[in-house]
Amino acid sequence: MFPFFFDPTMVLVIPGFILALWAQFKVKSTFSKYDKYVSRSGMTADQVARAILRQGGLAVEVDRTSGKLTDNYNPRDRTLRLSDSTYGSRSLAAIGVAAHEAGHAFQHAQGYVPLSLRSSIVPAANFGSTLGIPMFFIGWVFFHSELLMQIGVVLFSFSVFFGLVTLPVEFNASSRAVRVLSEGGYLTQGEIPAVRKVLNAAAWTYVASALVAILHLLRLLMLSGLLGGGGDE
Ligand SMILES: [Zn+2]
Repeated sequence: MFPFFFDPTMVLVIPGFILALWAQFKVKSTFSKYDKYVSRSGMTADQVARAILRQGGLAVEVDRTSGKLTDNYNPRDRTLRLSDSTYGSRSLAAIGVAAHEAGHAFQHAQGYVPLSLRSSIVPAANFGSTLGIPMFFIGWVFFHSELLMQIGVVLFSFSVFFGLVTLPVEFNASSRAVRVLSEGGYLTQGEIPAVRKVLNAAAWTYVASALVAILHLLRLLMLSGLLGGGGDE
């Protein structure tokens, strides 16, 4: 993902990577566990998503997309796409994922501020996560240019900001999902904790990504001497 340079500040990023690995493991194991529990209502995840959207008065298409856990809501064409592993599945895990994606559709329809903020910084964040760190190290190693390093830091900050603003968006979509599944009577009270576990596990992957980005930023700041220690002397 990033060019790999060894320096003592690399150590700083290690806790983030460990959390990210743990979160990935956790989301896979929790999902495969609750993918075996079938909903009592017998409804499939796409049926639940359509019912939730209809109940909320949203004209949003529900489509199928290939892959596993590639579920997403696209605000541009107002379409909710459920992956092969979710679409048509009656499992609690799949229903949780579908309701979470429907949560994003409601955020979009209601102009939920963190979501619009996140959408508006996508280009800058992509640019920053691709070019920020390479530019920093090119400035540091090849040109000894503080300006290039600072531009690298600023660019990378966009992807850190993106990671942070993703957190309320994801947490909010999950809490909407749990609420609507419970209050709308799609799942029984006994089934809700399973959905909560699946969505919490998924949330940890976003927390881990944000932490990795923050630690990378701290590392850059230390290396550039902007944050005590380090620096190119
Ligand atoms: Zn989401």
